[in-house]
Amino acid sequence: RFAYVDGQYVPHAKACVHIEDRGFQFADAIYEVIAIRNGALMDERGHLDRLVRSLNELKIPLPMSLTALPIVMRELIRRNRVRNAALYMQITRGEAARDFRFDPDLAPTLVMTVRRADFSHTKQLNQGLKILSVPDLRWARPDIKTVMLLPSSLAKMHALEQGADDAWLVDANGYVTEGSSNNAWIVTADGELVTRPADGRILKGVTRSALQHIATLFQLRIVERPFTIAEAQAACEAFSTSASAFVAPVVSIDGKMIGDGKPGRVALGMRERYLRYSEGAHGA
Ligand code: PLP
Repeated sequence: RFAYVDGQYVPHAKACVHIEDRGFQFADAIYEVIAIRNGALMDERGHLDRLVRSLNELKIPLPMSLTALPIVMRELIRRNRVRNAALYMQITRGEAARDFRFDPDLAPTLVMTVRRADFSHTKQLNQGLKILSVPDLRWARPDIKTVMLLPSSLAKMHALEQGADDAWLVDANGYVTEGSSNNAWIVTADGELVTRPADGRILKGVTRSALQHIATLFQLRIVERPFTIAEAQAACEAFSTSASAFVAPVVSIDGKMIGDGKPGRVALGMRERYLRYSEGAHGA
């Protein structure tokens, strides 16, 4: 297994960055996760666009051109001989003696790993996910895909300890922001797909955007508005979306069954459409 670290392909077990890297010292870093399904990168353009946005928001320079980056990504995939995997890419502001001030010209650190993945998602599809609601304690810029993931990780652990599969985060006004590492959706009795607007309180998921695009193709109605846990519990269906889980049906929230307690028809249908869409639009 190989990783990419700042210009070199190195054995995964030997891959490392310096202790004074600002990613380690200050969580001064952004990342992307891109699924590779049947050898093809899914939604590559969407992920690279968001990577650039995250870097711009933090004024971290691109470590290499947008022409070179996909070449490195493909070379790492090739060296790892994978067909179904998750590509993880992290860019930190770089290495510097620990100081709250930073040099705007610091050379960024780029690391990439590839990890085999099973995208059949058998358990998630057969049983659906049990969700626990957890207060959203993240920083005020969750719209940037930074590695500042401690509150999300703690929320996920709390959910697992309580026998659930994932956490949905809830803001101070009682509205769901998103999942620990995914966007949250409900389906109403009118057949509307409801998800929170990208109002600065969520990460604008690439998979979420793909579903919006698919909805226009199939004349499905997507409504962007915040919803509460009580509304989600009373909804016909609920699901979450992310690059690694695609569309994951949710069957209960805080112990309350959603619909008939089985993975919903709309969620499963959107998953199928998403797979076909990503093959058509991005498979190569
Ligand atoms: N929201 C959060 C907080 C996430 O961490 C992620 C993905 O990691 C998502 C949403 C889903 O985004 P995407 O569909 O681009 O994977």
